[in-house]
Amino acid sequence: MLVDTHCHLDQLPDPATTLAEAAAQGITQVVAVSESADSMPSVLALALAHPGTVVAGLGLHPAWISQQPPEAVAAGLEFLAAHLPQARVLGEVGLDHQWATTPEEQAFQEEVLARQLALAAAAGKPINLHSRRCPRQVMERAIAFSRQTGLGAQLHWFTHSRKLIHQCNEAGVYVSVGPMVLADPQTQEVALAIADELLLLETDTPVPISGQPNHPARTRAVAEKLAALKGLSLEDLAALTTANFRRYLGVN
Ligand SMILES: [Zn+2]
Repeated sequence: MLVDTHCHLDQLPDPATTLAEAAAQGITQVVAVSESADSMPSVLALALAHPGTVVAGLGLHPAWISQQPPEAVAAGLEFLAAHLPQARVLGEVGLDHQWATTPEEQAFQEEVLARQLALAAAAGKPINLHSRRCPRQVMERAIAFSRQTGLGAQLHWFTHSRKLIHQCNEAGVYVSVGPMVLADPQTQEVALAIADELLLLETDTPVPISGQPNHPARTRAVAEKLAALKGLSLEDLAALTTANFRRYLGVN
């Protein structure tokens, strides 16, 4: 049993077929994260249609936030406040300085992130975080959230710096590894620094990685690669990361 802990399932043309193909490779759960106001109802519908398989993540992505008028962001936050209790996870949320280059734009992303983290804390939901071009800032928020709430905090696609991973390990922040680990030596080195009890798997489907189309079934290749790097069997790596995911969700 393997879990793809970060996937934009609602962006795929035929999620049911994709889930069946993933299940055939042993991927039995997929966290479907939203990005936009429109994708939140789609994610909830997918979780209803595939109970036990699709884990709903609701949230507003920083890149989306930076491209919307303030009224659209306010409406998105209102929907999130009303529907987050129906989801299992807050995500995909975070900061993205590729889309926010001025101090004003960055402050707006931070304000919306703070609002979303407060909703997660109030609803008792773990968080799934994006951190392009500002990994340290997002990591600090993950650590603070985890300390203040005791809830799970996950940094997705966070395999850039061993130094930051050591701080995550000390603070008990989860880090998910995706298909970059298949061919990128730096990702491999950083992934090996993640504490065993904090390691999660992901694909970030449908973002193409290493020139290849992406899909949740690729979680198996990621797991096989990590197992080989760590000197574990695939079964042991699967058991380890699935137990981590359940602890992150607060299921045990
Ligand atoms: Zn994503």
